[in-house]
Amino acid sequence: MKEQLEDLDKTDIKSLTYEELLKQIQDMGEKAFRADQIYHWLHVKLAAGFDEMTNISAAFREQCKERFSYTLLKAVRVQESGIDGTKKFLFDLGDGNFVESVFMPYHHGNSLCISSQAGCRMGCQFCASGIDGLSRNLLPSEMLEQIYRVESLTGERISNVVVMGTGEPLDNYDNLVRFIRLLSHKKGLHISQRNITVSTCGIVPGIRRLAEEELQITLAISLHAADDKKRQKLMPIAKVYSIGELMDAVRYYFDKTGRRITFEYSLVSGVNDTYEDAERLSRLVSGLNCHINLIPVNPVKERDFKRPKQTYVEGFKNKLEKNRINVTIRREMGADIDGACGQLRKRHLEEGKEGTHC
Ligand code: SAH
Repeated sequence: MKEQLEDLDKTDIKSLTYEELLKQIQDMGEKAFRADQIYHWLHVKLAAGFDEMTNISAAFREQCKERFSYTLLKAVRVQESGIDGTKKFLFDLGDGNFVESVFMPYHHGNSLCISSQAGCRMGCQFCASGIDGLSRNLLPSEMLEQIYRVESLTGERISNVVVMGTGEPLDNYDNLVRFIRLLSHKKGLHISQRNITVSTCGIVPGIRRLAEEELQITLAISLHAADDKKRQKLMPIAKVYSIGELMDAVRYYFDKTGRRITFEYSLVSGVNDTYEDAERLSRLVSGLNCHINLIPVNPVKERDFKRPKQTYVEGFKNKLEKNRINVTIRREMGADIDGACGQLRKRHLEEGKEGTHC
């Protein structure tokens, strides 16, 4: 499995921190400014390979090629929404795996939703990403590359990054944290940690560990039900950690970081969308500095979940507002391009098995 920084005997250069790169370049007998030049090519100029690094001698570029592997994602499909400018990118990781990223232009800046794993082993009922299980973790460089390639391909700057695509980020913890530090590093793209959101299905030890990292990111918790029984039906992880344990970890995260928590709540018709559910949710989060994002479920063809009628969605939101809970209904982006998360990747893999090409 290619999920370590050392691939055969080569080091994945784009996953190295500035300090690590500096050490390697000095070990190769070069001065410190070379490391600055290379780091700049990798993380600011978003070079597609060593040969683009024109202020580095050809001889040293050859030495770098010997020592380092160079992660570069290839976009194999791009779908653009005719409604709102959302673009979905399918990237080839070069080993038979594919991941998707979704570009969303907003008035306040462009946002990119990235994947953290190829597949997922969390098995949430309504989610297309987990249907075929986990293939492998993404390297830090592969998470960065989704942003770098989308910026290069669109010519647009990305100001917000949400780790809400395929995969469970806290199931790929070390690579995730390294990715966040690289993305927000002042010598790199320098995206503010406040503009980075990590969404988790609720791996409690991961949340507690993340609280200690001294990061300023937003944590989003996929809650989807406010009582254990209902949550367990939707999300296998709820059988491992109770809502009580999850909320304790969330409070700990808030106490440590001071960052307002987001809860995601996918509304599924007849499952978690009653007034009683809204009341229970209000009680659960009352007194906590948080925001609730309601997501009318995106139907996935392999599953039988339906979206509640719009009036139910509004009613659920009103109930929360009456209880003075901060709540929004997530605006649906790119409704005309392969709806639910993970569907573009899944369709591509299925078509691949049937032998068609894009
Ligand atoms: N593993 C992470 C991030 C990936 S999914 C997590 O669980 O948070 C991002 C969000 O989309 C999660 O809240 C997830 O539960 C939700 N989601 C996945 N499939 C969905 C669907 N078909 N309809 C609505 N929300 C969905």
